[in-house]
Amino acid sequence: MQVQTYVQIEAMLNPVSILGVTVLSSVMSMAVLGSLLRAAIPGVGCWVLANAFSAVALICFALQGHVHALLSILLANVLLAATALAGFEGLRRFFGRSGLPVAGLVGLVAVGAGIAYWQWVTPDFDARVALVSAFHVGVNAAIAVIVLRERPPDRAKYSYYFVAVTALLVSVGHAARGMAYGLGLLSQGRLLESSAVNIAFLALGILALPTLSIGMVMLAHDRMADRLRTLVSIDDLTGAFTRREFLARADALLKSAARTGTPVTLAAIDIDHFKSINDQHGHAAGDKVLMHFASMVMDDVRTGDVFGRLGGEEFGVLCPATGTGETVMLLNRLRDRLAASGYRSGAGSVLHYTFSVGVDQYRAGEPLSALMARADAALYLAKASGRDRVVEAAVQAEDG
Ligand code: GH3
Ligand code: MG
Ligand code: MG
Repeated sequence: MQVQTYVQIEAMLNPVSILGVTVLSSVMSMAVLGSLLRAAIPGVGCWVLANAFSAVALICFALQGHVHALLSILLANVLLAATALAGFEGLRRFFGRSGLPVAGLVGLVAVGAGIAYWQWVTPDFDARVALVSAFHVGVNAAIAVIVLRERPPDRAKYSYYFVAVTALLVSVGHAARGMAYGLGLLSQGRLLESSAVNIAFLALGILALPTLSIGMVMLAHDRMADRLRTLVSIDDLTGAFTRREFLARADALLKSAARTGTPVTLAAIDIDHFKSINDQHGHAAGDKVLMHFASMVMDDVRTGDVFGRLGGEEFGVLCPATGTGETVMLLNRLRDRLAASGYRSGAGSVLHYTFSVGVDQYRAGEPLSALMARADAALYLAKASGRDRVVEAAVQAEDG
């Protein structure tokens, strides 16, 4: 019974069994990452490829002694190095980098050349381990660095730190193995030896692949969540906040203003005779005018101001720590700039258009809807009294 248990444990910890389990996990990772390909997230294709490389590499390793060393040593090592490089390249693409990872490719060629040299010219297993380890140390350190450096500051840290810490641990593990063999502290004749140290290194190294794959899946999910958030909060056409995001931010801003007692002003903006712009120049030109208007406002507003598209050609600007007079000035300055420049179309023609504004200040304790209703009423007055002007609700005097 005891002998049987020992044989079972020995079989489980056998390097070939460990490799076999990892091949299966690479195939699973390919399936999971493959399901994310349709989301067209940059880099995911590289991560699928990395797992394909590792599956083939590990099968080649496991066949050592049964197939030619060209496959079980040279190809296996080069493919495993390519696995790490494809993982890194996926991250570069994920973070929007272009061009080739030149240092990595040079390293990959060096790994191939070194393996061939120390396999067939001057056989030296320990030198091979040291070389391969150096490559993996470099690539995994680069993975940790790029993830920490490029992490979007407004996203939750967890998945980025997960990948960085895993890559750092893998890098340290490879460094330990490389030094142990390179400095002659450990020595062995072949990879699949069943020594305790060898099995420990193999198990750790091999655990790295599925763990890093899980990390990549987490990054891809984070990117999708970020896209969804952008979709609901940023207007596609103009880049302004959507109505929903504007209202949410305005609500939060008013609550904090009520606590601190600082003034907040709302400007309700509507482009004049926009329907006739569409009618005369076409809907596409109307869209361009909306984009032009939004970019002019975004150039003009200050950090902290909240600018949103509330409907078709209606916008809102909420100015914290700003009195009504200052907001009226800000919008009149915008009117002057727009009157001077107009919208210059691609064909070189200039289209002049104007806008009307109603402005009012927040009264502590009132709901956002009350402030919006007064600004809208002032906007209605601005339209009724001839358009192309800014009207202040409180005094309801013209200012245009
Ligand atoms: P007023 O000066 O009284 O505001 O007149 P107006 O023509 O601007 O007002 P109205 O509300 O009658 O027309 C707004 C038009 O805006 C109607 C609608 O077809 C158009 N519109 C709404 N959304 C878009 C859009 O995304 N793109 C384009 N091109 N037109 C839009
Ligand atoms: Mg309108
Ligand atoms: Mg209008």
